Amino acid sequence: MGIKQPWHITKVSHDDQNARVDLYVAHDKGLRFPCPICNEFCSVYDHAPEREFRHLNVFNYQTFIHVRIPRVNCPRDGVQQIEHGLAESNGTVTYEFERMLIDLEQECSIGSVSRLLNVDWHLCQRIQERAVHRGKEAKGMQLPKHIGVDEKSFARGHKYETLIYDAEQGTVEGVVDKRDQKSLETYFERFSFKMRERVETISMDMWDPYIAATKALIPDAAKKIVFDRYHVTRIVTQAVDKVRKQEHRILMEQEIDVLKGTKYLWLWNEENIPDFRREEFEQLRSLDLNVCRARAIKDNLRNLWNYKSIGWIERFFNRWYFWATHSRLKPIISAAKTLKSHIDNILTYAKHKVTNAVGESINCKIEKMKRLACGFRNRNHYRTAILFHCGGLQLYPKRKDISMQILPA
Ligand SMILES: [Zn+2]
Repeated sequence: MGIKQPWHITKVSHDDQNARVDLYVAHDKGLRFPCPICNEFCSVYDHAPEREFRHLNVFNYQTFIHVRIPRVNCPRDGVQQIEHGLAESNGTVTYEFERMLIDLEQECSIGSVSRLLNVDWHLCQRIQERAVHRGKEAKGMQLPKHIGVDEKSFARGHKYETLIYDAEQGTVEGVVDKRDQKSLETYFERFSFKMRERVETISMDMWDPYIAATKALIPDAAKKIVFDRYHVTRIVTQAVDKVRKQEHRILMEQEIDVLKGTKYLWLWNEENIPDFRREEFEQLRSLDLNVCRARAIKDNLRNLWNYKSIGWIERFFNRWYFWATHSRLKPIISAAKTLKSHIDNILTYAKHKVTNAVGESINCKIEKMKRLACGFRNRNHYRTAILFHCGGLQLYPKRKDISMQILPA
């Protein structure tokens, strides 16, 4: 049952109707316990009123431990309750039960855990919050050397959170409200100038508020910001989608519906087009469509990351830019101009070789978590869940061992 010295079971009762077991435990006699404040061993003065802790199930019976925790009368600190080693202070579940809840909450939503184990929803939520708090305390204040910044929508209706992650460890380090300049500044401001100076790269979206915040607070930011491949490609991919929409509208006016249901054929990389749609794609490609040209321009940009040196990347980009801006496709022209205006920090790629593999895998994890949870009751819960699932934190409670002294017989 995991019940260790000085505790022993004095009574067991079970209730078949409610599938419940109650264990009553008491401490061995003839022991002295340390005062929780000064650690001086004192003899037992009296016992606090009975408390009940939820413990691991016995078969499918919910199990509760009942205990009266001894109090000592310390000459210095007065009457104090001892460290009992059964649960976190103020906890209502044993260490073992809390660990199990943490394990389950990593696999299921809080709602499911609450239903499966018949534990109050709010308690499950509180345990998650406590686990994150504990993990953050243990980790301390650290600003990663290689940072990734991304936005994440919280709910429909354009509510966002800003995520700051460690691009090497793949852990989310901070989640702050909204995605404006203040959001990211709030995060950076937690760290000293010295710590901020040590940052080597920050990869992010071409999002002006983030750029401004980074320039304001990270020394030498201009050399450290990297617009990574994922974010660069996304801008051109969105432009391809706009071209498709416009062209589809014009074609439909002439009652031509060849572009109907083809959205993803233009967005997927060629190797990701499923086999059963390949023929359809080849056929579309043989038509003289704008979206086809837009896609070719997007595909060609992938070659940029094959070059190693700044000189070659720049030369490639200039050729690509000329092609894109002469395409007579407005969305593509405007995407190309956006890239051009940020070219300095796209070129930093050559120096830092930052990829966005980590950012994408965090993104996947969060999407999975959102699906499991079927939404969050508020932003705080959402933030806690992100750190719980993606923070790489040490979440388990640490058992405070109980020390004791045997009184001479
Ligand atoms: Zn004391």
